[in-house]
This record gives sequence, structure tokens and C-alpha cells, in this order.
Amino acid sequence: MENADVIKIWGNVTRQLRDEMSNVAFDTWIKPIEPVGLENTEIKLRIPGGRQKGSLSRSLIMTKYRSLIESSLKNVTGRNLDLNICLEAGDEPNDDPTMHENTLNLRYTFENFIVGNNNNLAQAASLAVAENPGNKYNPLFIYGGSGLGKTHLLQAIGNHFVKHNPDKRVLYTTSEKFTYELVGAIREKTNQDFRNKHRTVDLLLMDDVQFLATKELAQEEFFHTFNTLYEAGKQIVLTSDRLPSETPHLTDRLKGRFQMGLLADIQPPDYETRLAILKSKIEDEYFTFDEEIVEYVANNITSNVRDLEGALKRILAYAGIERTNTISMELAQKALKEILSTLPQRNITISTIIDEVEKYYRLPKGSLITKKRSNDIAYPRHIAMYISRVILDESYSKIGDEFRRDHSTVMNAVKKIKKMVTEDPELQEILDELVANIKRD
Ligand code: ADP
Ligand code: MG
Repeated sequence: MENADVIKIWGNVTRQLRDEMSNVAFDTWIKPIEPVGLENTEIKLRIPGGRQKGSLSRSLIMTKYRSLIESSLKNVTGRNLDLNICLEAGDEPNDDPTMHENTLNLRYTFENFIVGNNNNLAQAASLAVAENPGNKYNPLFIYGGSGLGKTHLLQAIGNHFVKHNPDKRVLYTTSEKFTYELVGAIREKTNQDFRNKHRTVDLLLMDDVQFLATKELAQEEFFHTFNTLYEAGKQIVLTSDRLPSETPHLTDRLKGRFQMGLLADIQPPDYETRLAILKSKIEDEYFTFDEEIVEYVANNITSNVRDLEGALKRILAYAGIERTNTISMELAQKALKEILSTLPQRNITISTIIDEVEKYYRLPKGSLITKKRSNDIAYPRHIAMYISRVILDESYSKIGDEFRRDHSTVMNAVKKIKKMVTEDPELQEILDELVANIKRD
């Protein structure tokens, strides 16, 4: 049975359950459940979020909602299906990496990934790699800010690959998981198992690789993992919140490896894309939204897709409280009021950056664009140029115009800070803080 069928069936079942249960009960117990697979007379579901919490939910669902769920399944499929609810990774009797179910979430697909100007390169490359692994872009390195769809694409690659190559091995992991499993393997003297697990797959998906950089041992191990897979022609896909070259403490040889294939960025979605994403998410819901309200959300939530989803969830929760299926503008505004005052709003310009850097270094307003070249001004100026370049991706000459400098001055400043960042972890912290201030504005 195809994955898509299980998703469809489960979608229909949850729609029925929503009508039969209170909103709170539905959101608490049913909504988190993920469909995993369908076999003979059994539907396999999973509760994400750790074993402890999961086993509690499972026993409650099995005692309280089992018959309701099973009769709804019967309604939808015309068959008697048994419920099998498993917990997140580790629950399986055999924790084999070929058990894709453990690590891939069927919710993330190419079909439900909206393509816009902000992510079309990353999406196209991901699809190419899923269809033709090991051939085109190896490794594929997807980078971009948080909540922009990196994990979604990575998982979509895995799901697509599994569907077309059911007998091949896929491993989705994160650099953090890789690191703690490595540490565990060293402690338990199971290094060989660890290596087998990571070095014998056909497709390795490693999420949030930026965290690898702070752990020397993990970098060393991953370097060899990478080489083994690469030389065997196996596909590797990595995601990160930044470019390899901008990742402090990443060893040069890993930087080199990461840059061998294709670097594909994801930017925050523009208005059109936000609108399209919202519409697609609303399609799955049982609520009526006026175009005007969707536009209101798309206009106001500009940071990333995760926040867009958060906004939508809030609106639906409010609708639940007010027991209505029709969303009014008033309700939407009420729901978003709180998040709008706390969310970072992205309307950053070079002059926002200059302001924030001046504030941070307690310099009088305008100091950075004066001709002064003393170090107490030149250094913050270089920082501001660097940030303008990395977060706005502005051209050197545009940045130069704003600082009243020529483009080669900007280029040298950016180069200088880039180098300093790799040598000084504290500088990275300062930069992160500055960027947070800038985004908060
Ligand atoms: P990241 O890993 O970059 O932090 P995620 O992949 O976790 O971001 O995305 C955050 C949420 O937004 C997820 O629920 C994801 O499904 C959704 N999302 C992101 N981009 C898109 C898109 N282009 N179309 C549909 N959903 C998206
Ligand atoms: Mg992610």
C-alpha cells in the first residue's frame, strides 16, 4: 500500500474524529498522531515527541478512543483495521536503519511543498537528487534561516526515494544525533555498529549540520562517513543555517567536502509565496477563510513558514474556542494580536543594521558613516558591513554606497570579519546577538 493512501485515509479519519470529539481532546490526542503505514489488516500510527510522553498518550488513546478510531477507519476504508500505535525511534524491536519509518515523517513531501522564488533552486535540486541520487549534485547542501523548509525538503527527498526504491537504505539524522550516538558508541565500544549504520546507506540525510562544527571528534568521524559514502557513489544531502564557508570551527577539509556539490539557499518567502503556502495549508482544514483574511495573515507574518503555520494554528484555536467554522477578520486579528507584537518582522535595511551596530557599541548615531578611521569606529563599521552582506545579501557596491565607501573597501571588511569569525567563537556570539537585535527591530 502506498504511503499516500495511508495519509489520505488518516486524513479522512481525523476529519470525522474532529466532529465527534471536543476540540481540546482532538488537538491533544489525535492531532499529533502520524500515519506510518498500512499492512493487511493493520494501520500503523506513530506518536512523535519522545517515549515517555508518547506511551502515556498511547495508553489513553487505546483505552478511550480506540473503538471510535476503529469505527471511523471502517467508515473510510470499508474494512476492519486494527490499530498499532508506535512511539518515536527506539520503539521498534529492531532499530535497523532500513526502517525508514523511524526517521522519516510522511507528512513532508514534495507534493505539499510550495515552490516560490525563495526556494525554487533548493526544491529543484532536491527533487533531482531524490530521482537521481548520487549522480548530479553530491553533496547537495541546503542552507537558510530557521523555519524556511530545510527539514521539509530533506525529508521529502527521503520519502520520495523510499517510495521508488523500497529496498534501499535511507538514513535521516541530525548532526546532534550523530554526535551523541557517536559518543555513546565510543562509551559502549560499539563503534563498528555506529560505522555500519552510517556508512552503508544509499542515501544519507543530515539535518542541521552547523552543530557538527563545535565537536571535533564528530567532525573527524563525519569526514570519514562522508568519504566512504561519496566514494561509493551514494547520495549525501546536508542542511545548515549557514554556508560552509561561514560556519566557524568547521574544519577546512569538511568545508571543502560540503562545497563539492551544489550549495542551494532558501530565502524567506515573498508575499505571493506566503499567500500560496497559507492557501495550501487551509485546504486541509475544515474552516472557511475569506481571501481578505488570508491576505491579512500573509501581509503581517513575514518572517518564515513556521510562523505562518503558527499564526494559522492560533486562528484555528480561537475559532475552536468560539465554536465557529467561519473565520471573521475580527477573530483573525484577535488571534494574531499577541504574536504580532512579539514576532520579528523582517523589514531590515542597511540603515537598520548601521543603527543597531552603533547602539551595540554605544556610538553616536551616524558614526559609522563618517570618514573616521580610528579602530573604535572602523571595527564596528566592518562588522556592520559584514552583517549587511550576510543577512541582506546586498551587493558590495550597494553596501559601499550606504557607508560612503567604495566596493573594494566593503569587500575587504567582509573578508576580514569572515576570517576573524573562524578564529574567534566569541565574535560569532556577538554577531548572533547583533543579528537578533536587528531582526527584533
Ligand atoms: P527548517 O528546517 O528550515 O527550520 P522546516 O522544514 O521545519 O524548517 O519548516 C517549518 C514548517 O514550515 C514545517 O511545518 C514545513 O512543513 C513548513 N514549510 C516550510 N516551507 C514550506 C513550503 N515551501 N511549503 C509548505 N510548507 C512549508
Ligand atoms: Mg529543520
